[in-house]
Amino acid sequence: MHANETPLSFVDAALLSEAASGVIAMAHFAGSRHWVPATSGNFSVRMDERFAALTATGADKARLTESEVIAAEILGPKHPRASAEAPLHLARYASTPAIGAIAHIHSLPATLLSRRHEKAGFLRLEGWELLKAFSGITTHATSIDVPIVPNDQDTDRLAALVETRMASAGSVPGYLIAGHGLYVWGARAKDAIRHMEAFDFLLTAQMHEENAR
Ligand SMILES: [Zn+2]
Repeated sequence: MHANETPLSFVDAALLSEAASGVIAMAHFAGSRHWVPATSGNFSVRMDERFAALTATGADKARLTESEVIAAEILGPKHPRASAEAPLHLARYASTPAIGAIAHIHSLPATLLSRRHEKAGFLRLEGWELLKAFSGITTHATSIDVPIVPNDQDTDRLAALVETRMASAGSVPGYLIAGHGLYVWGARAKDAIRHMEAFDFLLTAQMHEENAR
């Protein structure tokens, strides 16, 4: 065990195994859609107030196994096998108790539109029927402004910026990082999967519509 690794005795093995199955379901879903190229992307499920199950760094998400899912302490020291993007997951869990699962993907429409709209700082999605796939939305006659933050390799700094932006973003279940990709979440893994699929459809539709203008 590494000196700063959380002793396994603190982690409920059954809870970790159950959360890991949600992480694996999200990772395999995203992998099957080619949204996590070249071992990119990461996925997590909240275990309790203290821990989240999170993909380890370097894992091929399309073929993710349980041994590649770690228990990361939400407010604790960095886990030695945590990916560089772990702070972007853990800060969301720390700030928002309703979030139970988070997915991060590098889908092509998310990556392209995040760069196109970076200057505005947000991307408006309006009038699409599939907005109703997001929890709490019951009509197409609405719009959401998806926040866009500039990319930053200092992910602690980026996570702090994201939390500032999300505090005034309403109930939008995701945000874009410019030229990088999408973070999306839900109450449980199955909600995060639905939101991931809805975002990809909406961003693809938006991209085609903008390109046709
Ligand atoms: Zn990424």
